[in-house]
Amino acid sequence: MERYKMYIGGEWVDSASGKTREVLYPYTLEALWEVPEGVEEDVDRAVEAALKAWEFWATKRLTERIDYLRAALKLLEGKREEMAEITVKEGGHTISVARWFFDSALTRFRAAIEAAPEFYGETIPSSTGRFSFTIKQPVGVVGAIVPWNVPLTMAIVKIAPALLMGNTLVLKPSAETPISALELAKIFEVVNLPEGVLNIVTGSGSVVGRRLVEHPEVNKISFTGGTATGRDIAERAGRTLKKLTLELGGSDPVIIYEDADIDWATDAVVYGRFYHQGQICISSKRVILLEKIADEFKEKMLEKTKRLKIGDPMDPKTQIGPLINKEQLEKVDEQVRESIKMGANLLCGGKYEKLVYEPTILDGCTTEMPCCKDECFGPVAPLIVVPDLDAAIKVANETIYGLSAGVFTQDLSKAMTVITKIQSGSVHVNECSLHIDPLAPFGGVKASGIGKELGGHYTFEEYTTTKWATINTERVSYPFLLLGG
Ligand code: NDP
Repeated sequence: MERYKMYIGGEWVDSASGKTREVLYPYTLEALWEVPEGVEEDVDRAVEAALKAWEFWATKRLTERIDYLRAALKLLEGKREEMAEITVKEGGHTISVARWFFDSALTRFRAAIEAAPEFYGETIPSSTGRFSFTIKQPVGVVGAIVPWNVPLTMAIVKIAPALLMGNTLVLKPSAETPISALELAKIFEVVNLPEGVLNIVTGSGSVVGRRLVEHPEVNKISFTGGTATGRDIAERAGRTLKKLTLELGGSDPVIIYEDADIDWATDAVVYGRFYHQGQICISSKRVILLEKIADEFKEKMLEKTKRLKIGDPMDPKTQIGPLINKEQLEKVDEQVRESIKMGANLLCGGKYEKLVYEPTILDGCTTEMPCCKDECFGPVAPLIVVPDLDAAIKVANETIYGLSAGVFTQDLSKAMTVITKIQSGSVHVNECSLHIDPLAPFGGVKASGIGKELGGHYTFEEYTTTKWATINTERVSYPFLLLGG
């Protein structure tokens, strides 16, 4: 078993507790790695290192900061197979999904570097004749907390903008998948990123994550994970009034209107719901069908779903691999069982072996069933049949979540109705909800989050403060001083 250390202040260190934790391969449940089990003291050390580093990192020219990140990106580019295999082994991704995520992580890294020089303050017309302008300044030490489902990408979408904007960062990877982030730190070490600018503290959310959120010297928390955790973080971070970005859970709808191209729509939904075993925040978690096309859609979707290849994640042909752990598998299975008890009809799946859950389709669902009401983080597609577009939009919005959404229609006015009426952070026409572009802003509404990631200036706003400044170029008279005569 390979043993890793944490990266704090430019050094590879054990936890102050001396304890470690195993990282399992979800497909075989074999322990492949051992990482330090961080404690509060480790977070404190990391924050101290980050604070010290911030003094000089914030004053570096943007072009210098870009040079470090470009060098890291270049090194990372040569590690596609190595990093993809790590993603398979720690996260249970299939190898094709892991390679796709690797490529998408690079695209997001590159996009952030390229957009950085275009983010700056503004000059403002002055009502008093002063020279009036804004400058963008780093917030200071950023605490980043990420989930297990897309470990490398999630680390990069936080590290890149934070560092580019002159912040220093302490990252807590998920205890399930810490290896990608530690490998990333090795890359930053090779390119001589100054010590303390990037720190990785491994350990649990309840200890390491919580301390990061509560640490008085951390000025911002950038969190991606579940809504319940996000709420807890918002409450705790509120006590020290930290700037917050929360990228949380979803139960994204896809509406299939009656004029949709059903072949295309079923392709999209099978991809959108079953890619990475449905363990993506913007997976298409509720499929809303107009009555007129419901039977044709179900038949085609069932046929395509049954063709999905289940098995060894390292086999390039495998489409469905394991879920992340036993708790998640049991949660998904319970959502399926409870929904069936409430009247859902099982069209396929509903079975599992070890951590591999078969792609499952549930017909006759309602928004009250657990497979729709709660976030279902597994390969389960609930179908909800509705009479018309108004009912479809109503059902789509009957959720606490609002991350992404999709609609299939050839009617522009229907598409515009959905775009404007659906309560979500993004919406895609003739696409499922599983669509992201590093050049566009991403983030949720309602219980799906606060703030934006990606999209150049949208994400840079999250890692900076806007300072308003004025300059008087001529002496000003103050009428107040003349009042007394
Ligand atoms: P969790 O919320 O369980 O965990 C996310 C991270 O938070 C982990 O590193 C976890 O640590 C840590 N954490 C847990 N409790 C606390 C706490 N009290 N204080 C601080 N940190 C804590 O989510 P999952 O890892 O299960 O990820 C799946 C969820 O993430 C889904 O809901 C999914 O929709 C969402 N997600 C959202 C995305 C978006 O962009 N909107 C993108 C990807 C996923 P630990 O190591 O102990 O687990």
